Amino acid sequence: MSEEKQNRGEQLRRALLYDKKNGYDQLVPGDEEAMEAYCTGYKQFLDAGKTERECVDRTVALAESAGFKPYVRGMELKPGDKVYRINRGKAITLAVIGKKSLDQGANIGAAHIDSPRLDLKQTPLYETEELAFLKTHYYGGIRKYQWVTIPLELHGVIALKSGQTIRVSIGNGEGDPLFTIDDLLPHLGVEQSKKPLGEAIPAESLNILVGSRPLEGDEGKDRVKLAALELLNRKYGITEADFISAELCAVPAFNARDIGFDRSLIGAYGHDDRVCAYACLAALLQLSEPEYTAVCMLADKEEIGSEGVTGMKSAAFDTFMEDLCQAQGIPLRVCYEKSFCLSADVTAAYDPNFADVYEKRNSAFVNYGMGLCKYTGARGKSGASDASAEVVARVRRVLDSASVVWQMAELGKVDAGGGGTVAAYMAERNIDTLDAGVPVLSMHAPFETVGKLDCYMTFKGMKAVFEAV
Ligand code: MN
Ligand code: MN
Repeated sequence: MSEEKQNRGEQLRRALLYDKKNGYDQLVPGDEEAMEAYCTGYKQFLDAGKTERECVDRTVALAESAGFKPYVRGMELKPGDKVYRINRGKAITLAVIGKKSLDQGANIGAAHIDSPRLDLKQTPLYETEELAFLKTHYYGGIRKYQWVTIPLELHGVIALKSGQTIRVSIGNGEGDPLFTIDDLLPHLGVEQSKKPLGEAIPAESLNILVGSRPLEGDEGKDRVKLAALELLNRKYGITEADFISAELCAVPAFNARDIGFDRSLIGAYGHDDRVCAYACLAALLQLSEPEYTAVCMLADKEEIGSEGVTGMKSAAFDTFMEDLCQAQGIPLRVCYEKSFCLSADVTAAYDPNFADVYEKRNSAFVNYGMGLCKYTGARGKSGASDASAEVVARVRRVLDSASVVWQMAELGKVDAGGGGTVAAYMAERNIDTLDAGVPVLSMHAPFETVGKLDCYMTFKGMKAVFEAV
């Protein structure tokens, strides 16, 4: 082959082929330092927010120190105003008012702050064979076998008939006790080990061990349970019946940690979807006076289908947006039809240890940047919002002009399974919506793993969307 022909091939290759590159080969000056600083803030956010309520609290603290104020219906709004509204302590919407009026639409980032976990049942506490346990009903798509024999913390609230709500957080304080769910020893696990993964640990065996010491000097029934209740009564002033109006969750007792010799990854509970929630929030907090109004929606209940009054299907979001629109005398529907939403949720990272469920050409890879999903859904795109080609093109332009490292992402092989996000519910509102987020290893496990580069690029991408003109 002549040298000329070979050069031509090289030129064509460069000009025509879509070349995927590791994000570490594409960083621009300043990225590396900014990435480390950003990830430190993210890890703090994770450690402070183990439930959606705690994430809302942390979000408010960060927002208030960045000048955000609670929005009261009827308040006047001018460009650069920073407002937020909490929905029942479990979801929050924040906005920075743009130079352009809301009839030109808003740029929205929507993520969720609920994560898979074990909720306590409403009559949870019982004693058997002088051990006290709490019954659970798992929340979201968990693989039950992953939740036994790990340390657990207890977080949530107990609402009393008096109207008072008591916050509970046991396990993340200095010297706090932890809880756990026991599993069978291998010596006696012969039959259990023959069962399929999904059946080996039935949901009704996910009972949390909370005590073993009987009430001193008592000869009655359930002495261990009674002793535990006495401790709870002393600490929180509650009785057994108060569990009826409680929301208590067992979450993994792991704080976020760097993973790998090179510290390039973060292992933590709740990356799905706090990794995108934090990216949306951190990007919004840096805005001063964007062209278009920027909105960050942190929703609850995504893991169980976005249902309920605090989920993305709830009209609470529309009510807040309508209040903002009314301050400018604009009908909500006019704002929506011009708006854009990045549904910021995690996607599956290609895992070479389970290569057979992925389709390599269309999978997201760790360190290849923010993953855009034109569609999600399952088996034939069912349940997906499927962004239009024009919307994808616009986002490509915005991300490329801000030097964001990004990749296209599809969850896995078409017939292997699937999943959804809040995208479909934003699209139903007549808002152009595209899914995008951080690729995760071991998604929905008690300890999930993400790449720092992908976390940072998702933040950078979110900021580019908010700043788009
Ligand atoms: Mn998610
Ligand atoms: Mn999820």
